[in-house]
Amino acid sequence: MSIAEEFEFDPSKVWTNHRPFLTSSAIVGANYGDEGKGKMVDAIAEKYKKEGYKILSARGQGSGNAGHTVVVNGKKMDFHYLTSAGLSADAMLLGPGMLIDPIRLLEEIKKLPEEKQSIVLVAERAAIVTDVERAMDVWCENKRKETNQKIIGTTGSGVGPGVGNRGYRFHVTFADALKFKTAEELKEQYLKNPILPEEVKAVLTDEYAEELLNSIRKLNIIDSVAFLKKCRSEDNWALILEVSQGMGLDPLFGHEGHNVTSTPCTIIGAASGLGLSQWDMPEEAYLMVKAYTSKVGGGKLITKHTPKEEKLSSVIYDMVGERGVTTGRKRDVGWFDAVLTRYAMNLNQESTLCVNCMDVIPKIAKLTDRVPICVAYRNTQTGEVTYDYPYHVSDYEPVYQYVEASGKTDDEIISDYIKAIELYTGGKVVAYGVGPGRDALIWRK
Ligand code: GDP
Repeated sequence: MSIAEEFEFDPSKVWTNHRPFLTSSAIVGANYGDEGKGKMVDAIAEKYKKEGYKILSARGQGSGNAGHTVVVNGKKMDFHYLTSAGLSADAMLLGPGMLIDPIRLLEEIKKLPEEKQSIVLVAERAAIVTDVERAMDVWCENKRKETNQKIIGTTGSGVGPGVGNRGYRFHVTFADALKFKTAEELKEQYLKNPILPEEVKAVLTDEYAEELLNSIRKLNIIDSVAFLKKCRSEDNWALILEVSQGMGLDPLFGHEGHNVTSTPCTIIGAASGLGLSQWDMPEEAYLMVKAYTSKVGGGKLITKHTPKEEKLSSVIYDMVGERGVTTGRKRDVGWFDAVLTRYAMNLNQESTLCVNCMDVIPKIAKLTDRVPICVAYRNTQTGEVTYDYPYHVSDYEPVYQYVEASGKTDDEIISDYIKAIELYTGGKVVAYGVGPGRDALIWRK
C-alpha cells in the first residue's frame, strides 16, 4: 500500500463507534393527519428535558403541507415546516427527505423567539420547492379535471411535483443552490427542466429568483449526516422524530385513486428520509388517532357521518374546528375507524396509541345512546367482510359495533370508549386528549 507523502492521514478522524441515539421517540399519525401530534410531541420533549437530555427535534419527510398550531409567548401560530417541538428543542433538523420552500421557511423562523431562530438546521440534501412546483400542482389538478379524472385534492404545496422532479433528476437541492453565484443561475437551472410547461415556468420571475436565493443564503444549511454523527457521539441528545401527515395518506400504503401525499408516512420512511439507520429506530413510538376520524382531500372517508348524523358532525366542528391548518379546508368527519388504525399499527409494528379529542365523545353521546366504532369493512358487491384495510376502499362499507352510553357519566363513557378502542384495535391506549391545550393530555396508568 502506498501512502501519499503530502497527506498525513489522521486515524482518529475515522468513525468506528457506530451506535444509535441514546434515546428517541417517534410520533406518527395513524389516520389521515391532524390527529393532534403536537400535544404528544410537547409531552415527550418535556419528559426528555426533565431527564437532562438535549433535544433534537427532527423531520425526514413531507413539506409545508403539514400544519400544526404552536403557541409562542401566548400567541397562536401556524407552522408548516418547523416541528411542533421547536420551542423546547436544542436543535431542529429538517432532513434530506423534506421538500422546503426557503422563503416560507424563513418567514416561520422569524416567528420564533430570537434565541430559537439559530437552532433551525436545513439538510443540504433537502430539495427546494417554490411557486413553480405549486403552479405545477395546480396545473396537474386542472389537467385531471380536463381529462375527466378525479382530482386528488392536494394542499397545492407543490410536494408531488417536487418529488417528481427528484425522480426525473431535475430537482434543486439546498447544496446546489448555495453554489449559484447569481439568481440568474438559479433561474436557468429551473428553466432547464423540460418537464415543466412554459406557463408554469413563467412563475419564476427575476425578482422571485432573487428572493429565493437571498432566503436560501440566510438559512442554516448543514451536512445533516455529519451532524447526526456528532449528536450520536455526544451522548446527551434525545431524538424526537415527527412524522407528518397520516398513514392513510402514505404514497405506497394509502388507498386507491392516488389520493395520497407524496412522501412516506411510516416511521421507517420518515427515519430513512432523515438519515437514521436501522439501529436508530425510535425506542418509543406513539401512534396518534382522534376519537373519531377526519379527512380532507379526494377519496372516500368510509366512516363519514351520514346526512342524518349531521348534528353529531356539528358537535365536532364546534369543539375541534376540523379545518386543515394549511388550506383552511373543512375536513369530513366520521366514526372511529379501527380498521385503518390496525393497518397503521401493522405497518409500523407498534401498538401504543394516543387518542385525542376524547372530550368530543361524551358530548356526542348526549345526542345518541350509543357511539359506533368501525371494526371491519364489508364489500358492497360481494358482502364479504374484511379485517384488513383494502386498496379499493370505495368498494366497502363500514361494519360497526357500539359503545353503549345511556345512563353513564362522562368519565364512564370515556373509560368504556377507550376499552372498546383497545378491544377493536388490539392496541394499548397510553394517553388521551381532552382538549386542545398542551396540558390536556391524560396519561393512563
Ligand atoms: P397535527 O396535524 O397532528 O400536528 O395536529 P395538531 O396538533 O395541529 O391538532 C389538530 C387540531 O386538533 C388542532 O386544532 C388542535 O387544537 C385540535 N386538538 C388536538 N387535540 C385535541 C383534543 O384532545 N381535544 C380537542 N377538542 N381538540 C384537540
